[in-house]
Amino acid sequence: MINDFEYFAPKTLKEALKLLDQYRDDYKVIAGGQSLLIMMRQGLIKPEHLIDIKGISELNYIKSDYKKGLRIGALTTHRTIEKSPVIRKSFGVLAEMENRLASIQTRNWGSIGGNLCHGDPAGDPAPVLIALNATLTIAGIHGERNMLVEDFFLDYFETALEHGELLSEIQVPTILPNTGTAYTKFNVIESDMAVVGVAVSIHLTSKEGQCEDVRIALANSAPKPIRAKKAEELLRGKKITDHLLKEAGEIASTETEPVSDIHASAEYRQELVKVLVKRVGTEALSRAKKP
Ligand SMILES: Cc1cc2nc3c(=O)[nH]c(=O)nc-3n(C[C@H](O)[C@H](O)[C@H](O)COP(=O)(O)OP(=O)(O)OC[C@H]3O[C@@H](n4cnc5c(N)ncnc54)[C@H](O)[C@@H]3O)c2cc1C
Repeated sequence: MINDFEYFAPKTLKEALKLLDQYRDDYKVIAGGQSLLIMMRQGLIKPEHLIDIKGISELNYIKSDYKKGLRIGALTTHRTIEKSPVIRKSFGVLAEMENRLASIQTRNWGSIGGNLCHGDPAGDPAPVLIALNATLTIAGIHGERNMLVEDFFLDYFETALEHGELLSEIQVPTILPNTGTAYTKFNVIESDMAVVGVAVSIHLTSKEGQCEDVRIALANSAPKPIRAKKAEELLRGKKITDHLLKEAGEIASTETEPVSDIHASAEYRQELVKVLVKRVGTEALSRAKKP
């Protein structure tokens, strides 16, 4: 049963931040409500003040240019990102990830910012954004601050957002030539959360060259989305082979701290990481080599 609450629907970021400051003792922000309403219906949270930011149009946009890269307003829906021509052309892995996130109904209403702020370690956008070395802008009544997406997640459903702050924008740097990025998740029911999700981004010195840089990000393999930095270290500076990718998968699985739940045991999740790092790494490598 949902508790009674006072409802506000600010139309600007400034107005929203003022309300957050005013009700800082007991408020909850709602964007698309796709995650929040479930928690409210289950009685897990009972805010006295609900601040609905869905109508703040200045936080709903996709902008891209070569210098600044991609900028996505926090209120942009999953479906808008999935369908965006500019994202499909230059940041295809984001559109592919969104296409597998939830159902069309949920994608039509849920926002990328809400997904990140929910802090679910199984969420799909975080590993892809971490692999793409994305950053965030967080707005508060006294100004803005920026951080890497990989630093945003602190623990299970816990983020670096402080009271009175809103996530306003996600920035993805321009993808360099000879770079390939891929993502997949293993899930039992199509359009469900990831049992394990893996994103890999590989940047080569040239089409047939060595690995100049690599980022491997994992979902639902630890209390928060993580990078498999030891596995990355193995690949960096080398000519990537099947054998090396297999070894990277094995190392990545040792970097995880998965839990056992009704969907999979911790051991099974570690096996998935081994298999998926190799599989997704192979796809990222082949994309990096594409003319
Ligand atoms: C049936 C179903 C299936 C799903 N499947 C998947 C899946 O496969 N993969 C996946 O990743 N997710 C999945 N989800 C989760 C869901 O899609 C996202 O978490 C959702 O998009 C959250 O966005 P929202 O705008 O609805 O956020 P809300 O539910 O409104 O908010 C979520 C949290 O973020 C906070 N918040 C929202 N926006 C901001 C902001 N700008 N600044 C600060 N705080 C903010 C809220 O206070 C709340 O704590 C699924 C959800 C459902 C209902």
